[in-house]
Amino acid sequence: MKAKGQKSKVIWWAATAVFGARSDQSLEGAIKARSHLHTGHNLIRFGPPPACMLYWNVRLVRHPSTSRFSMKIHEYQAKAILAQYHVPVPRGEVAFTVEEAEAAAKKIGGSVVVKAQIHAGGRGKGGGVKVVKDAAEAAAVADKMLGMTLVTHQTGPEGRVVQRLLIEETLPIERELYLGIVLDRVQGKPVFMASAAGGMEIEEVAAKTPELILKEAFEPGIGLAAYQCRKLAFGIGIPATSVNAAAAAMSALAKAYVATDASLAEINPFILAKDGKVYALDAKINFDDNALYRHKDLMELRDINEEDPLEVEASKHSLNYIKLDGTVGCMVNGAGLAMATMDIIKYAGGSPANFLDVGGGANAEQVKNAFRILLSDKNVKAVLINIFGGILRCDTLATGVVAAARDLNIKVPIVVRMEGTNVELGRKVLLESGFNFTVGEDMRDAAEKVVKLAAAH
Ligand code: GDP
Ligand code: MN
Repeated sequence: MKAKGQKSKVIWWAATAVFGARSDQSLEGAIKARSHLHTGHNLIRFGPPPACMLYWNVRLVRHPSTSRFSMKIHEYQAKAILAQYHVPVPRGEVAFTVEEAEAAAKKIGGSVVVKAQIHAGGRGKGGGVKVVKDAAEAAAVADKMLGMTLVTHQTGPEGRVVQRLLIEETLPIERELYLGIVLDRVQGKPVFMASAAGGMEIEEVAAKTPELILKEAFEPGIGLAAYQCRKLAFGIGIPATSVNAAAAAMSALAKAYVATDASLAEINPFILAKDGKVYALDAKINFDDNALYRHKDLMELRDINEEDPLEVEASKHSLNYIKLDGTVGCMVNGAGLAMATMDIIKYAGGSPANFLDVGGGANAEQVKNAFRILLSDKNVKAVLINIFGGILRCDTLATGVVAAARDLNIKVPIVVRMEGTNVELGRKVLLESGFNFTVGEDMRDAAEKVVKLAAAH
């Protein structure tokens, strides 16, 4: 699996390694992983379609106030939430400027850690976590870090601009452990994971030695039981004198996960300090978007700077858009058809530039917005419009497409495959428009044509 563009790699690795591909947490992850899977061997091209099934689950119950799937927050925000539930966290403060960073470091006193706040992990290896000896050095490091583009294995090569820092007390680390909770869809329960092999190599542990990750499923209504906490604490080698503290932290983490309707909560590293105390040294929480309507306070933690601008734009127009890294732009109505379209583009030897579901009842305006968003991706070399006309009639779609082509001055070749209500009328509108649309006879034909055009463009 390629790491590029995969925002939730840790979860993805942990979930696939521990539970198998059926129990991933995010649709976004599923779609991206699916798109990456298909770059592999022929044998898995037409494997079972877990993403489709998952999609319908997510879609049917999704609350209309939001159209993302799993809201991410920053480490400092996650730590503030954990602290409310009595998970021990280091003393620290967020800083948006060099002055704030220096003031925070002075207040904490002595040596501090300066940590870049971006919605991606792997910061330690990417240069986004620096231990400094005093406030003056903290200011110097903050000056370098703020505004820098931090590239980690989770950000993709384009990286993320650092706009916030967390200034935190340093702690004498004895051991780095791992704690995490994800939803296991197979068991229908959250699963608590713990490992002695915490720290920056956890993805490798999940991939190569999944047996080093201990698991305990629990009922959300009951929480992680005391015996489960102790079992995990002993299992990851916590010394007897620290077991109570570790077990309490685990129980608190599980409470926070359930109470906030999280889809993922992860502490990596969870540390045992030299004095025998335990702390969450890092924290990551993602929330289930379907439940966000009942957490107005959490919704305010959203940081749009961290989201893909095209995805933010698409969500404003109620379009389900996820950017991928291929060259064939896809405009499709219906999630199942969108998935099938991605598959058939792969099968024809191409690669989709995005997942886009304009919805069953799209109007001409939405079609136009969808086009604009699709085409602002510079990688798009050709577009495949694959529509089944049900509620959205083919002639309405065709009229929308022609209007969009006129307004947006579209230069890339467009292949259209339509079926359903008023299909003849729709084809006629396209063919008589004066634009050079290619009409595909069926899905395979359309996919082959668009892949050829994308390669030539
Ligand atoms: P990530 O790489 O994005 O997951 O960032 P983390 O917050 O996990 O930090 C990466 C690594 O930096 C950790 O595994 C620790 O080894 C180290 N680190 C973070 N905070 C401290 C600290 O307070 N003291 C020391 N000595 N090391 C720290
Ligand atoms: Mn970490």
